[in-house]
Amino acid sequence: MTGDLSLIKKLKSLSNSLGGDVKLISVNDFYSLLKDNTLHKAPFTKNHLGIDYFDKIVYHTGDTKWYHIVHEMAHLFASEDLPYKANEFNFLGWEYATVKYIKAPLYQWHKDMYEYTIDKNGSKFGSLSKYKKRKLLLDRLQVAKNLNLISLKGTPLSIR
Ligand SMILES: [Zn+2]
Repeated sequence: MTGDLSLIKKLKSLSNSLGGDVKLISVNDFYSLLKDNTLHKAPFTKNHLGIDYFDKIVYHTGDTKWYHIVHEMAHLFASEDLPYKANEFNFLGWEYATVKYIKAPLYQWHKDMYEYTIDKNGSKFGSLSKYKKRKLLLDRLQVAKNLNLISLKGTPLSIR
């Protein structure tokens, strides 16, 4: 958890530099935001992570993995579509670039990516060979560059 906290701190300062924020709030406040409909709750994370798409804020209650915050940040900064309409494959390169940017342990991210669907046939990232994983991530980085989601050097940018 200590590792998560220092990485979440880095994600907060990256969000700040991109015109958004990552905020730690109480469970009660989280429920109030849900009631207000301010929040898009992140799927699969119970009630401890969500985003305010319009204000570009990730809210979490402290019981959150750093890599789940990376994904929610991608919705805020690397997608012009509302969260439920997002083309998530388009911003995978942004997520990968961000993991590298904050120097997070890649193996933790890879583990979380195991069930990530990579094509229409439902193939999972985790089922790819090491070589194919690498190739897919390099392709996604290129896509992210083409969409101006990351700089040529791989720094995460915001398109919103
Ligand atoms: Zn998502």
